[in-house]
Amino acid sequence: MKNKKQTKILVCPRCGSTNWKVPMYFDQFGGPPTEIKNCGDCGFKGPFIETDIEKVKEVQDKIKENKEEEVG
Ligand SMILES: [Zn+2]
Repeated sequence: MKNKKQTKILVCPRCGSTNWKVPMYFDQFGGPPTEIKNCGDCGFKGPFIETDIEKVKEVQDKIKENKEEEVG
């Protein structure tokens, strides 16, 4: 039997990046909620989308679709 890995990854809801860092200003509140991140690519600050590492592409595709709709 295979040991199923459940690897979670956080994706930026704005640009789909997985390049994030912990926002510093949350430190003063005694520990940030784990999903609050600061995007290293677009600068988004807020709750990231937590997803399975295998589904990252799906999430990124959806974000791209939404973007195109917004821009029109
Ligand atoms: Zn981003």
